[in-house]
Amino acid sequence: MTRQRSVILEELRKVDTHPTADDLYNIVRMRLPHISLGTVYRNLEYLVASGEIARLESAGSSMRFDGDVSGHQHVRCVHCGRVADLVYPPAVPALHGIRVEGFDKIVGVRVEFDGVCERCAPRADAASPPE
Ligand SMILES: [Zn+2]
Ligand SMILES: [Zn+2]
Repeated sequence: MTRQRSVILEELRKVDTHPTADDLYNIVRMRLPHISLGTVYRNLEYLVASGEIARLESAGSSMRFDGDVSGHQHVRCVHCGRVADLVYPPAVPALHGIRVEGFDKIVGVRVEFDGVCERCAPRADAASPPE
């Protein structure tokens, strides 16, 4: 493993903020001032492919990365995109017995909750119409 890759992995595992590639670039630059954003992207792709980190995919928002690859659940703020781990996750739906036309089998399930984070809550209240 290259030094760049190990620094990226180390920094990602230190935080629980599920940073974007840009966030990580800014963190890693403190230690490796000459690293490029492209190098950060390439190493993140490699680490995802090798199963050392996880990529959080969600339509319409920027890709985030997780140094914790245990199968845990996330909540995403619908206003700012901030992501947090669920501390007491509810049971996920069972996979066996699910039948979908055109699919041979179901191999996994991803659950992501939508939320409003503390920082966005006052704004969200102000924006919602009066009852
Ligand atoms: Zn928020
Ligand atoms: Zn997570």
